Amino acid sequence: MRALVVEDEIKMAGLLKRGLEEEGYAVDLADRGRDGLWLATENSYDVILLDLMLPDLDGLAICRRLREAGVWSPVLILTARDAVVDRVSGLDAGADDYLVKPFSFAELFARLRALGRRGAAARPTVLRVGDLVLSPAGRRVTRAGTAIELTAKEFALLECLMRHPGDVLTRTRLIEHVWDFAYDGDSNVVDVYIRYLRQKIDRPFGRQSIETVRGSGYRLREEPGDAADPD
Ligand code: CA
Repeated sequence: MRALVVEDEIKMAGLLKRGLEEEGYAVDLADRGRDGLWLATENSYDVILLDLMLPDLDGLAICRRLREAGVWSPVLILTARDAVVDRVSGLDAGADDYLVKPFSFAELFARLRALGRRGAAARPTVLRVGDLVLSPAGRRVTRAGTAIELTAKEFALLECLMRHPGDVLTRTRLIEHVWDFAYDGDSNVVDVYIRYLRQKIDRPFGRQSIETVRGSGYRLREEPGDAADPD
């Protein structure tokens, strides 16, 4: 088992290294975010412990870049802050779990064992429909390799469609996924956002991948060859 610890506080880093080594891990240390990012992309780790507050590149940015680069080693974020917003942004950035300082080694090892059990099946994946590719962790969309800028709502709407290619999704279902359950506004908002999406993912590429199913909702057309691409 190999672990990477990215932590700028020397004392904390030393404690973690010793504790992990006692549990049988081989441990690499980085005290700068950029060094940590480099090590994590060059090597294969069974777990990466990321301090949130680092002098150059913070833990969330490192996590996001790793996921964008296709590195799916389990990431445990260590933080002194316990705000809900941090927790949410950590998980949005593709972190697997979260530990608030100060913590006990017993708690740390319990979390590490849980991460180990979770295995590769839980790794988020990139969604592909034809030449449309969406990375939930990296929050990026490309069509035939061309990056497409989407707003948060457009992104969420497209992600929902791409998770169910070929299925008709009703306006109600789309609203529940993209807005929230409490939204009781006009369901025309879906039509408006579908129009925005078409202008970004279809029109510039001469496509018509988002189909209107009269009286029902919308469907993202499954293009031939999707199933042949397992990535
Ligand atoms: Ca720190």
